[in-house]
Amino acid sequence: MRLITHWINGEPVTGTPERTGAVYDPATGQQRAEVAMATPDIVDLAVRTAKNAFETWRDSALTRRQNIMFAYREIVVARKDEMARLLSEEHGKTFDDARGEVQRGLEVIEFACNIAHMLKGEYSEQVSTSVDTYTIRQPLGVVAGITPFNFPAMVPMWMYPIAIACGNTFILKPSEKDPSTSLLAAEWLAEAGLPDGVFNVVHGDKVAVDAILGHDDIAAVSFVGSTPIARYIYETGTASGKRVQALGGAKNHMVVLPDADMDLAADSAVSAAYGSAGERCMAISVVTTVGDAADRLVPKIRERIGELKVGPSFDEGVQMGPLVTKEHRDKVAGYVDAGEASGASLLEDGRPLRVPGHEEGFFIGPTLFDNVNTDMSIYTDEIFGPVLSVVRTEHYEDAIKMVNENPYGNGTAVFTNDGGTARKFQNEIQVGMVGINVPIPVPLAFYSFGGWKSSMFGSHAIYGPEGVHFYTKQKVIISRWPDPMHRGVDLGFPQHGQ
Ligand code: NAD
Repeated sequence: MRLITHWINGEPVTGTPERTGAVYDPATGQQRAEVAMATPDIVDLAVRTAKNAFETWRDSALTRRQNIMFAYREIVVARKDEMARLLSEEHGKTFDDARGEVQRGLEVIEFACNIAHMLKGEYSEQVSTSVDTYTIRQPLGVVAGITPFNFPAMVPMWMYPIAIACGNTFILKPSEKDPSTSLLAAEWLAEAGLPDGVFNVVHGDKVAVDAILGHDDIAAVSFVGSTPIARYIYETGTASGKRVQALGGAKNHMVVLPDADMDLAADSAVSAAYGSAGERCMAISVVTTVGDAADRLVPKIRERIGELKVGPSFDEGVQMGPLVTKEHRDKVAGYVDAGEASGASLLEDGRPLRVPGHEEGFFIGPTLFDNVNTDMSIYTDEIFGPVLSVVRTEHYEDAIKMVNENPYGNGTAVFTNDGGTARKFQNEIQVGMVGINVPIPVPLAFYSFGGWKSSMFGSHAIYGPEGVHFYTKQKVIISRWPDPMHRGVDLGFPQHGQ
């Protein structure tokens, strides 16, 4: 069985793994590799290596860091399909979707190619007589990223290009379910000219994560994953003095008003609910309809579900692949059981789906519930699978109240042809990312990504300008060069205008 190793100081490191984890091909259900699980000693080795590398990397020229990012960008562009294939094989999403994932990560690399512009400080001449003030942004040191299974290439790319370009050194702890893409990134960064020790990968689970959170030489942690773990990372990391940004789970509502274009709304709901088999933090999992919208929308959603092709990721025409593991598939099926038992109308049932030739694969078909209410577990919990719930409301105000009272606040969307209503929605909604006739409002890399409420802990959103602020600290300099007019000793506190 192939062993997926750590990457420390520019080379693969196996250590003597006490434990390994299984990595599957979700389409066949067969194990395809095993991954080394880091002990605290391995994490410590990676941190010491990164700390050592930081001593020189922090002083490397901005143009050099940019040039390495440009070279890395060229490699990713040229070999995008190789990375997409690898992540598709371990995650199960379709090859086309995987290519889209790498492309969205690439946008952050491109943002990092322009880091010199983002690190410019401010300068004020003559804030007092012969005194100037200016700011510089400096890297933090060794920073770590802990990432989820659902975007094994893109989510790490939300972090390390900016962290590294800002002058930090980086330790990535990817998901143990689909870890191979991270090693490919490490090899390509080395090929692009990144010095050894600047980017390191340690695999593992809670043991590795706790070793990161408890390590005194790690200055900051970026986390993306489920809400309970995000809260734990935030509380534990900040308690030990680290800067932490922790992005959590979601329950994203798409509000459909009676005046919406119902074909657009149906296309959008189906794409956003079942794309990547619902394993996206920005997936739509609830459609909240207003007035009679559901009567026209639901039949259109059902029509489109009937045409979806589910199968192995690489098969021609397949639009939806399997879930990541058998446990996850069974958990999602359990939610469908619970939804049915609680009295929701099960209009499309994905549980019986069998893919010929792939009977052991982790498949479940697109599932649709109507007449869901907010007490049912299919509404309250993040299912993270291809299960869409329709909740019917009478008035616009009921829909807004539902979204605002939900503990999650990652993404939401409104579908309407009334500009005034859309503007009101954008103003009132308590959610971090809002789509207006756009179901998955993920900003491009020159903006930043982040939810509200239980979807994000910490004060910095991820990537874009907020990413630069997260991975740097500001220093302010007050400067005066000897001048013949200086007045000698003065114990008074400086006052403006002097
Ligand atoms: P997860 O929380 O189970 O795992 C995320 C990371 O935490 C992994 O690296 C994992 O090894 C580690 N981890 C797991 N259990 C741990 C524990 N007990 N202690 C310490 N570390 C632990 O999430 P997942 O299942 O890999 O990913 C899916 C989740 O991520 C969903 O909830 C999804 O909404 C969320 N997500 C959020 C965003 C966002 O931007 N807000 C983006 C992608 C995914």
